[in-house]
Amino acid sequence: MNSAREIWEAALGELQLQVSKPNYDTWLRETTGVHCQGDVFVVGVPNIFIAEWLTSRLHSLIRRTLTNIMGRVVDVQFVVRPPSQVDAHPVATLQADGGTATKPRGSVSAPRLNPSYTFDTFITGESNRLAYAAALEVTEEPGYRYNPLFIYGDTGTGKTHLLHAIGHAAKDKGHRVLLASAEQFTNQFIIALKTNSIDDFHNKFRSADVLLVDDVQFLSGKGQTQECLLHIFNHLYDNNCQMVITCDRTPRAIASVTKKLKSRLEWGLITYIGAPDFETCLAILELKTKQLNISVPLEVLQFLAAHFQHNVRGLEGALNRVTTYAKLSGTEINMEVALQALADTIKQGTHRQVTLKPELIIHTVASHFGIAPETLVGKRRDRKASLARQVAMYLLRERNCFALAQIGEMLGNRDHTTVLHGCEKIASEITTNPHLKKAIDEIRKELAVEKHD
Ligand code: ADP
Ligand code: MG
Repeated sequence: MNSAREIWEAALGELQLQVSKPNYDTWLRETTGVHCQGDVFVVGVPNIFIAEWLTSRLHSLIRRTLTNIMGRVVDVQFVVRPPSQVDAHPVATLQADGGTATKPRGSVSAPRLNPSYTFDTFITGESNRLAYAAALEVTEEPGYRYNPLFIYGDTGTGKTHLLHAIGHAAKDKGHRVLLASAEQFTNQFIIALKTNSIDDFHNKFRSADVLLVDDVQFLSGKGQTQECLLHIFNHLYDNNCQMVITCDRTPRAIASVTKKLKSRLEWGLITYIGAPDFETCLAILELKTKQLNISVPLEVLQFLAAHFQHNVRGLEGALNRVTTYAKLSGTEINMEVALQALADTIKQGTHRQVTLKPELIIHTVASHFGIAPETLVGKRRDRKASLARQVAMYLLRERNCFALAQIGEMLGNRDHTTVLHGCEKIASEITTNPHLKKAIDEIRKELAVEKHD
């Protein structure tokens, strides 16, 4: 039988996909599975505030999630367990107050650097190379290169990860790092106003060597908080303290933010993180499985990378789902389990890509290279035909997870070692040959929009 702790971890994995990140971080991240007695599942929470919020806002979602995971109807109860009673929780590496002052009254939890969001665990690819380089540069000499460093991109592309990585590196060099999401900054500002402690609030943020502000778009429409942040920025800037900001759009595109704050945000370097490509997703998955110490067949990882591109959080969520599903049902992870675990997540259209007809891949590749499909299955061995054939092998393996021997058969009864060689050659060549990589990305796109049954 799985322990309450394990079941709750699985539930957290699911809930992470269903609630916004600030909500998850504020209300769920620090909860634990305590025990399950009869049909009541007890969840430990750090304070009464969180217990009340979860009861009034997420009770039914949590109950449904637990019911799904446990395969029987359970109710859920929240009990307050002070952090000291919660075992083996990741230690807070840093608090917004630098670990010295006490938390402002009524605050929910102090923002911390996530111990696993470091430069070492950040996979680079074309989509994030520039942002990564800028982040590294900033940590060389905080306050003197780009100030502020402004990182923007869609949700789940690694902005927060990179922000925390900068925090860790700066902290290791002895700098005083303060981290706050714009939402937390706003909440703390409101509390400071209510409790007449605005000076303390200002002093706390002004004492930073490096100030990290996550998701600044949240300040849209919050004039007073913007004004306050602007003053803090000016002070830090004048004192050569580094600011790093993340956002889901460019400064200019944030609605209802004062001109002054926008111009301040644009003052340093603005860098973009795009959606990760297939290879980056695959590398991220390989890293995650290593960290989790689980073994997942390559074809499953390729399948996940192909279907959950564009959002690393979704990609991780999918991997979590598959591993949890396999664990709870006591089976090994394989393609069948992956498809079952993700059946309701994969959209109808995308789902069909799993069973994309091999002929379609062969045709699409051939037409991209300007040759006849018969050439791919035929004997021609000139450079163009060989390359196109190898690309077809690579894509057949990636998209449909066919066995090497099957692919060999489809492409003119070639030997499985020939197919393996072809796949490996393309996999290695796309890391050094941008033209080939572009061609393959284009074919993938064509296949994604292709109509098929
Ligand atoms: P964002 O802040 O842009 O919404 P996050 O930084 O929260 O995205 O990333 C979502 C998840 O994906 C995190 O668990 C993060 O560690 C992981 N992630 C994103 N990009 C990468 C990457 N390049 N390498 C490793 N993990 C990544
Ligand atoms: Mg983020």
